[in-house]
Amino acid sequence: MWRCVSRGLRASSNRSISGGGHFRRLFSSQTNVGGSSYTVVDHTYDAVVVGAGGAGLRAAIGLSEHGFNTACITKLFPTRSHTVAAQGGINAALGNMTEDDWRWHMYDTVKGSDWLGDQDAIQYMCREAPKAVIELENYGLPFSRTEDGKIYQRAFGGQSLDFGKGGQAYRCACAADRTGHALLHTLYGQAMKHNTQFFVEYFALDLLMNSDGSCQGVIALNMEDGTLHRFRAANTILATGGYGRAYFSATSAHTCTGDGNAMVARAGLPLQDLEFVQFHPTGIYGAGCLITEGSRGEGGILRNSEGERFMERYAPTAKDLASRDVVSRSMTMEIREGRGVGPLKDHIYLHLNHLPPEVLKERLPGISETAAIFAGVDVTKEPIPVLPTVHYNMGGIPTNYHGQVVTKNGDDPDAVIPGLMAAGEAACASVHGANRLGANSLLDIVVFGRACANRVAEIQKPGAEQKPLEKDAGERTIAWLDKIRNSNGSLPTSKIRLDMQRVMQNNAAVFRTQETLEEGCQLIDKTWESFHDVQLKDRGLIWNTDLIETIELENLLINACITMHSAEARKESRGAHAREDFTKRDDEKWMKHTIGYWEDEKVRLEYRPVHMNTLDDEVESFPPKARVY
Ligand SMILES: Cc1cc2nc3c(=O)[nH]c(=O)nc-3n(C[C@H](O)[C@H](O)[C@H](O)COP(=O)(O)OP(=O)(O)OC[C@H]3O[C@@H](n4cnc5c(N)ncnc54)[C@H](O)[C@@H]3O)c2cc1C
Repeated sequence: MWRCVSRGLRASSNRSISGGGHFRRLFSSQTNVGGSSYTVVDHTYDAVVVGAGGAGLRAAIGLSEHGFNTACITKLFPTRSHTVAAQGGINAALGNMTEDDWRWHMYDTVKGSDWLGDQDAIQYMCREAPKAVIELENYGLPFSRTEDGKIYQRAFGGQSLDFGKGGQAYRCACAADRTGHALLHTLYGQAMKHNTQFFVEYFALDLLMNSDGSCQGVIALNMEDGTLHRFRAANTILATGGYGRAYFSATSAHTCTGDGNAMVARAGLPLQDLEFVQFHPTGIYGAGCLITEGSRGEGGILRNSEGERFMERYAPTAKDLASRDVVSRSMTMEIREGRGVGPLKDHIYLHLNHLPPEVLKERLPGISETAAIFAGVDVTKEPIPVLPTVHYNMGGIPTNYHGQVVTKNGDDPDAVIPGLMAAGEAACASVHGANRLGANSLLDIVVFGRACANRVAEIQKPGAEQKPLEKDAGERTIAWLDKIRNSNGSLPTSKIRLDMQRVMQNNAAVFRTQETLEEGCQLIDKTWESFHDVQLKDRGLIWNTDLIETIELENLLINACITMHSAEARKESRGAHAREDFTKRDDEKWMKHTIGYWEDEKVRLEYRPVHMNTLDDEVESFPPKARVY
């Protein structure tokens, strides 16, 4: 049982970095669970943001700007978030290279989503994009430049002019091939300027949900000293990134473990469209590191073992710059038909060696280095061995275009959960639908991070009185943490994680069939079962990586189970979900979002409608049609 044994003022011993200003008194108490004693520190903020990647930082900056006392909790130092690894760039119809229009960008995004994206949210994102990029420029992001000093924009996959009729668009603004690095550092600087209060190396465990279904904050573990922290807040914004690490080979960081998604699922709320997992065509064979699509944007081409530029056959117009799902499938077909390269004929070559060395040096310095280190290749002379590699999660926590988390409630498919928001890769707004276009995610994170802050400013006043936490807020989480910490089974975390990653890699792959998916459901459920037999060796609370990795594994497993079951249920091919037994898109039966609940350790699926409406008459919605490139 949890009992407060002391309650008093506590000076801040947190390893928090304060941008200055706002500081609140903290109260701590002692909680005893299963013979262990836990120190619980209470905080109150107007808003708490979980995550300090691009989405979390942009939300935190906006909230601080609007005068809200904001805490940003992050398990990593902010500039270590996966956003730092983004290479290619950020889309916006700035029109710096050719004439451009946000409506053309919107059309490409709707088409890229294979008509599963919500068109109101897509309109919002594409219309806001030029403003968002100029804002980043004003924040100090060092964009690459054209001769006459404008922001340089490169070609990227799936981008066209004039609603697909005007040829390739040059819409992707970049800072060479280190755009995410530049973006994240710029935003971190701004967050410091705006007095956001950071709680660095705090691991958020669970949401604090009220009995009326609203959210009142989060509970987190300070990894440095083992104390627990309840952050009470009128608004909680989840910006915890994707869960690429559910797979064996992924471009995402080892920290991309879908923690926020799992927190939502554990709170009884659904996750949307998890079956849509993006494979990036060009991960380095073996190592999995990303070679940006910008390399093809700058003129790189894919060739098979016969030296053929095979994309000309699959996508006669866009060729190597077709949408990612299309290129990944084409590469897989080439390999299957025996035209792969290497001794095992199991990968493809990406050629950059025909490009002028100056272009490689100026526009693609990062990937030239990555290719040298991880593939031993000099890109000026040799091709890079590549393979489709898991890269991005289109699905996540369902939100409206304001960033508010929504769920299906009786007849209302868009019921808002009071106090809870989500942005970035963790969220599903849904602007990417069944397939995300390259350079639309950096855009998504800044646009919807900001949208969350703006929405809070519309519905709340800084410093507004908050009701007390419910009596046992966080108690269940502490009991759960205690149980995991004392797990005494026979299987190491790493073994279960590898089992999960293998199942996901084999059974929820680029191509899927009923057989592979049914088997996948059985295997992933079994892997979940095996988690009950996990074994921890370290029982401490301070810098216990064994404990953190085990919690992350549970989080990954919840995401993996919902992904597999959602994929098995969807009997059509759409975007990244390519079924060999149901090869066509079926708009009549399947133009709907999957929502997957995690109930009694099992997946339950429901569906909600896709928003086909636009926000206003600045643009008409785009009716579904065949998707060809
Ligand atoms: C290699 C690579 C290259 C990419 N290139 C591009 C590109 O060129 N253009 C583009 O548009 N997109 C690109 N993407 C996709 C894009 O970068 C990501 O989708 C995006 O950056 C995600 O940002 P985010 O803020 O949602 O999450 P992240 O940047 O992943 O940040 C997540 C944050 O959540 C915190 N967090 C997570 N769990 C917890 C927890 N339990 N407790 C506390 N904190 C937690 C972490 O500390 C971190 O701060 C790329 C992705 C990869 C992997």
